[in-house]
Amino acid sequence: MTSNPLRLSPIVAGLWRIADWKLDVSQRVHWIERVLDLGVTSFDLADIYGDYRAEGLFGEALEAAPALRHRMQLITKCGIRLRSADRPYRINHYDTSAAYVRSQVERSLVQLRTERLDLVLIHRPDYLMDAAVLAETFRSLSAEGKVAHWGVSNHSARQFDLLNRHHPLVTNQLELSPLALHALDDGTLDQAQALDRRPMIWSPLAGGRLFSGQDERAVRLRGEMGAIARRMGTSVATLAYAWILRHPSRPHPITGSGRIEGIREALDALELRLDNEDWYAIWTASQGHPVP
Ligand code: NAP
Repeated sequence: MTSNPLRLSPIVAGLWRIADWKLDVSQRVHWIERVLDLGVTSFDLADIYGDYRAEGLFGEALEAAPALRHRMQLITKCGIRLRSADRPYRINHYDTSAAYVRSQVERSLVQLRTERLDLVLIHRPDYLMDAAVLAETFRSLSAEGKVAHWGVSNHSARQFDLLNRHHPLVTNQLELSPLALHALDDGTLDQAQALDRRPMIWSPLAGGRLFSGQDERAVRLRGEMGAIARRMGTSVATLAYAWILRHPSRPHPITGSGRIEGIREALDALELRLDNEDWYAIWTASQGHPVP
């Protein structure tokens, strides 16, 4: 690991959906400036986002306003080979071989118009991963100054442990929301707390299903969260972020919103601490039954 510790902003801005926002370059620059001005300095991408176009869209903005790069931490991911027009794989699959990880990291550097990535994550656990070989790839890319820190996403606690024995990992990026509770029980958040590696949290609003889901669970949860939010004088979105931030592993939620107001709703949660009863009321509404 490099000697400089990684410091992410408490809330991270996610760019999975940037291609859907249909912003021209100057609008993208303006969006990034406004997000930075709010104190959100960490940006989460992946090689495959936007059908392999998201990094380039963000990079175009950095090319137009290069000073912005010095105010931010850039996070990206690799390891998924997704079929697309110029990648006619027979099937979607994972690849953590030295050659593929190196080629994707070098592609990310070009797309993002940067000389160094602050954090690179292995996007999904590759069942064929050779941990010793991958760790050697991490070391050589770091020695070349191309990647400062390494981590994983969607890895089980044991998968994290395996790779972490060969090379220090700074985070496991996990799904958690009032509609996705599995990380609370599968050992990943316990491990994050035990090792003091703050997790990053994806889809904190369940990809918007918290607001739009028509299934019984989503409707029940919305009713409960709406009542709590009204009592606290806040929004359901802010309440969802506060529910995540209440976890003792000190997670970094990643926003997915293209609206500045959506980012503000996440930041508001930093001022809101849920008591145990409200936290468990949300858990109970999600599960559909009380704690045993
Ligand atoms: P999310 O916050 O759960 O969902 C974002 C969606 O919710 C957007 O479509 C947004 O629309 C909508 N939304 C937000 N506030 C709303 C409101 N008040 N009412 C109605 N809709 C609302 O996050 P996500 O985009 O799914 O994921 C966040 C980030 O996590 C991604 O950008 C990516 O960086 C990362 N991620 C990682 C993985 C992984 O495997 N590691 C997987 C998925 C995502 P608006 O834009 O209109 O607000």
